[in-house]
Order: sequence, then structure tokens, then C-alpha cells
Amino acid sequence: MTRLVNDPGTFAGEAVDGLAAAYGDHVLRVHGGVVRAATSPPGEVALVLGGGSGHYPAFAGWVGPGMAHGATCGNVFASPAASQVYSVVRAADNGGGVLLGFGNYAGDVLHFGQAAERLRAEGVDVRVVTVTDDVASAPPDRAHERRGIAGDVVVLKIAGAACAAGWDLDAVEAVTRRANDRTRSLGFAFEGCTLPGADAPLFHVEPGTMALGLGIHGEPGIDDAPLGSADEVADRLVDGLLAEQPERGEGYDGRVAVVLNGLGGTKYEELFVVFGRVARRLRAAGLTPVAPLVGELVTSLDMAGLSLTLTFLDPELERLWLAPVDTPALHRAPPPGPRRTVTAEPAAAPVARGSAPSRRAAAGAVAVLGAWAQTAAVHQQELGDLDAVAGDGDHGQGMVLGSAAAHRSGVELRDQGVGIRSVLLGAGAAWSEGAGGTSGALWGAMLTAAGASLSDQAPPQPRDAVTAVLAAADAVLRLGGARPGDKTLVDALAPFADTLAARWAQDVPLAQAWRDAARAAADGADATAALSARLGRARTHGERSKGHRDPGAVSFALLVAAATDVITELTTGEDR
Ligand code: ADP
Ligand code: MG
Repeated sequence: MTRLVNDPGTFAGEAVDGLAAAYGDHVLRVHGGVVRAATSPPGEVALVLGGGSGHYPAFAGWVGPGMAHGATCGNVFASPAASQVYSVVRAADNGGGVLLGFGNYAGDVLHFGQAAERLRAEGVDVRVVTVTDDVASAPPDRAHERRGIAGDVVVLKIAGAACAAGWDLDAVEAVTRRANDRTRSLGFAFEGCTLPGADAPLFHVEPGTMALGLGIHGEPGIDDAPLGSADEVADRLVDGLLAEQPERGEGYDGRVAVVLNGLGGTKYEELFVVFGRVARRLRAAGLTPVAPLVGELVTSLDMAGLSLTLTFLDPELERLWLAPVDTPALHRAPPPGPRRTVTAEPAAAPVARGSAPSRRAAAGAVAVLGAWAQTAAVHQQELGDLDAVAGDGDHGQGMVLGSAAAHRSGVELRDQGVGIRSVLLGAGAAWSEGAGGTSGALWGAMLTAAGASLSDQAPPQPRDAVTAVLAAADAVLRLGGARPGDKTLVDALAPFADTLAARWAQDVPLAQAWRDAARAAADGADATAALSARLGRARTHGERSKGHRDPGAVSFALLVAAATDVITELTTGEDR
């Protein structure tokens, strides 16, 4: 859906006006499009691109040093008129001849062709190169009939770099044709796009399927296929293009420019997931990706879909592909300095063996972590629903991920024979990393503080459990800054810690003190329903949270209750 429209008839022109307002350092508005704001050396070949609007960053986003001198901007999905092309070329010409570059569509061929004729008649040397990268649009023996899609960005980037390098028009034209001959793209769509002012997409793709061989103007695909996983989509794209890989030789030795292009309605994260697989597949096939681009390069309004482009490079094409460029949408700085090598593995803390009593306590702590992971899983939905009232709905997921990661880490450390201190420190770090979010940080801090109050050597006593809980509570208050009444997990944690300390001071055995404290935590969590949130994510909708319990307080009460049985078992028969 295109939502922000004043008038469908002026939408494309207004977008170009706004682009020129935003990127005034790069582009100047002229009749029919934009030209480069920076001056070019006299005699430099001018590259003028263009096509319909609705494809940004193609084409106006590519005007600037290192790429185009001008871009003509037609109406949405409609070729610019010959008169517009003419006017942009006149404003972009540096006296060195002009290369017109655009995707191979009948309307563009006609209008750019007419403009070229008129300019030639006036004595301007004009050459035309159409981009024909879309392998789905015609078989290899009719490759010159193919449509231009995201391969535009590679072919035209190379053309612009040749202009910037001071090449003459013959050489710029020749290298642009070679880049096009070596560029192949294939795309899939998951949903059609909607023209500004229209209330329905140009076509629909059945849910769970994808349209193979999309166009970039809302043309439906050539065929349909089941959607499949991200990896399966990546494999189909790679296989489709590798089928047209040229023989090694003539400068080609497996180095490829790679573009994974989003069509306008596909998230960058989705593209990166697919790209991970694409890169692995290319390497497995003996190819080396060179300066890949992943993102929206040639869009089709809000179409959901993606395309993969490969350009089979030779050393000259690679130099031009890597040359610096500075445009509103495409940037490449000169190469950075020498590369660092870093390992992707998390930094591991050294593991020290614990004393036998400390290891026994560690086993008990791991049993508690196991009970927590189970409890979090059972209550995931309920906690998520509570968090959705005024927060972002992820508390159930956060508690499940955090407790599971803490338990896994605890098991691993226990099996390595470390003591209670190191087990809790490791589990705290794992919880924080596994869950993220506010509660992940706070639970991670609680386990870490509890661990830091204990020892891997000295035999743990029941009173150490009380000390550890007080240290954990202290860490939450210090880090989070919340106080009772703010409607956070502190409203369960504070009564828990206070009751535990008070009952312990009254000579009650640990298991009984813990049971009483867990009850106080549950009461505290229930009482948060009457409060409105003043801290954390929920504060923005604080009033809305009234009448509902705080998710972090509820999960805290559930977990300390779930630990009661393990604590009872561990301390049975022990002295106070
Ligand atoms: P996020 O808010 O990052 O999405 P979660 O949804 O996992 O994290 O956790 C939300 C819970 O975090 C809240 O219900 C509240 O109990 C707790 N919380 C938020 N801010 C604080 C704070 N400053 N101190 C203590 N607890 C807090
Ligand atoms: Mg949340």
C-alpha cells in the first residue's frame, strides 16, 4: 500500500522534488529529473540514467561523483518522455559525449532513442546501452531481449566509474556493454505492489507460494512455486544464476560482484538471512563474492520480493566495481586500511575446579535453574500476554530463552567440576546474553551478584543462600533504579528478600524461610495489579497497565516458588 500521497498524478514529481531538497549537496532538480550538483572535469563522458519512478534508489539515487551525471525520472513505472531525457542530458553534458544507460523496456528504448537522435542531430555524441540481466525474461540465446532489473546497479556503477576514470566514450561504452554481458539476475516475488492512489495491488501471490521471475513493474512472475525456507529460496536463486556462469578465462576466475536486492517490502534482516546462505553456496561453488551489496537497490514500490544479481568480473570490471562512489543512495569510500582478524567465539573465562562441597552446592543450583527453565516454559504465554498489555509482549520469550541458556551453561560448568560461584557467574552471563531485554539484564545481574557472594572453595552454608539473595536484590536496585511501588519485579523481589532475611533472623530453617518469602513475593506480584507502571518499557502506557499484574513481578514470584522444593530437598538434614 502506498499511503502517503497528495495526488497520484503528481506523486512521482513530488518525490523527485523532495529528493533534491534532501540531497541538495548531491543533486540539482532540472526539468525531467536531476543532475549532479558537483562540477565535473570538462570533457568527462556524462552518464545519464533513467526510467520510471517507483524504483528508488534506481535511478535518481545514483547521481553523484563516481556514478551518474544525471537521471531522468518518469512517472511511476512509466518511461520518461524523450523531451525529459533531452533536457537532463543537456544539463549533464560535459562536452565529452554522453552514455545513456537504462533497463531494457520498450517504452524506455523508444524515448531514450528519440532523445539520442535529436541530440546527435545537434552534434552530441550519444551512445545507448540497455541493461538485460533478468534471466527469467528470455532464454540465453535471446539474452539481448531480456529485461533490466537489479543488475542495473552493477552495470551502471561500472559505467560511472569508467567516466570518472577519464575514459573516452568508446571505452566507456565498451566496458558498460561487457559489464552487462557478464551480469545475470533472478528474482522472486511474495506479494505484488500497489500504485499510489490505487487501493489494491497490481497482482497477488498466493500465501505460501512465490512468483518466480518477477518484473520490477508489478508484472507477475513467469511461474509459481512453494515458498520454502530462506535457505531454499537462496538455493533456487544461486542455482538459477550458476546455470549461466561463463567458462573461466578471458580474465574471469570466479570473482563475482553480488547484489541481493529487496523489492521494497522485504526486510533487511530477511535479506541478510538469505545472503548468509548465498555467500556459503557461492564459496562452495568456488566463487569469491567481491564487495557484495545487500539491501534495496532497485525496488518496485512496496513489492515483497528479492532478486540476486551476479556479475562475473574480470580485473578491469572489478577495479571499476570497487572504485569510490558518493551518491544519495550508494557510497563506497576508498579501501580501508589492513584488516584485523578477530574470532567470532565468545571470550571464555578460565575454569577452576571447585571443592567437593562447593560442587555439591553447584549441582543444587543447577537443579534450581532446571526448575526455572521448566516453569518459564509452562508460563511463557501468560507472561507474554501480561507484557503485551503495556509493554512489547516479549517477556515470556525472554524468560524462556534466559532460563534455558542459564540452565545449559550451568549443566556444562557443573560437568566440568566447577564450584557454586563459577556456575552462577556463568549462568548469569548466559541468561543475560540468551534473553536480552530489561528482564534479561536484571536476572543476569541477580545470578552474577549471587555467585560473586559465594566461593568455589569454602563449604557453602545455608546462611549463604540468604546472603546471595540479598546481594541479588541489591544488584537489581542498584542497576535498575526501581523502588517498591514502581510496578516492576522489585515489587516481588523486595518482599521476597525482606521476608527471607527476617525469617532467617528468627531462626527459621532455610526451606521454611524460603517458602514464606516466596508467598510474600506472590502477594507482592498480585498487588502490582493496582499500580500503574512508572519505569521500564511499560511506563509509556502506565495507566493502561492498571488492573493487570506486572509481568516481571509475576515471573519472579513463579520462579522463587519453583525453587522451594529443590531448596527443601537440599537443606533437609542440614543444620541451620
Ligand atoms: P523489555 O522491557 O526489555 O521488553 P521484559 O519484557 O523481558 O523486558 O521485562 C519487562 C519487565 O522488566 C517488567 O515487567 C518489569 O518487571 C521489569 N523492569 C523494567 N524496568 C525495570 C527496572 N528499572 N527495575 C526492575 N525491573 C524492571
Ligand atoms: Mg518486554
